[in-house]
Amino acid sequence: KPLVIAIDGPSGSGKSSVSKEVARRLKLAYLDTGAMYRALTWYCLKTGVDLHDGAAVEQASKAMPLEISTSTATEYVAVDGTDITEEIRDPRISSSVSAVATTLGARTELIRRQRQLIDQHHHRMVVEGRDITTVVAPAAEVRMLLTASEEARLRRRGIQLGGTQTKEQLAAQVIQRDAKDSTVVNFTQAADGVVTLDSSDLDFEETVDTALAIVSK
Ligand code: C5P
Repeated sequence: KPLVIAIDGPSGSGKSSVSKEVARRLKLAYLDTGAMYRALTWYCLKTGVDLHDGAAVEQASKAMPLEISTSTATEYVAVDGTDITEEIRDPRISSSVSAVATTLGARTELIRRQRQLIDQHHHRMVVEGRDITTVVAPAAEVRMLLTASEEARLRRRGIQLGGTQTKEQLAAQVIQRDAKDSTVVNFTQAADGVVTLDSSDLDFEETVDTALAIVSK
């Protein structure tokens, strides 16, 4: 029986960790679509593609030999055999990814690949990103928007990055990236039929439990 769980939300909403845990508990495959945009950014920088040349970025998206794990047991992203699992989390990638993600031709190609992965897993998958509930899988059995207050998101980002950056640096990065991203995808408001899960006052376990309750409704 198909069970696609689409989860969208801004950065720092806890999307990735919550989505992965939901997939693990329900024994579903898991796809982090943000990692695909990050991998494309890495590939463009590696091959000298100008991130503001839309046609070149689109071309790169089609050529990129991407391998991404869809298992909750292993986190693995590789391009042309090079393991970039860790590297795509670098601030160097985070600060450039929006330029790539706002290239419509590249989005079309990555969305095609995402749908292909969903098909390959017989529509039993948790898929997380920014446009999953609205564009990639609008017919998903379960669709949710994971939100959190700006304060909560910045706090979580601080923990995730190891706390070496100042609060101001963190705030600027997160807010700027969300602002750029939301010019092409709307993840700040739940679309029709999408359930909002506000995690501002919930800890990780509570958020996962709430998400699972939404799934079983
Ligand atoms: O989720 P994560 O922060 O890793 O996503 C990295 C970037 O990928 C986002 O800032 C956004 O630019 C892009 N993205 C997107 N659509 C998605 C997932 C991610 O545009 N479905």
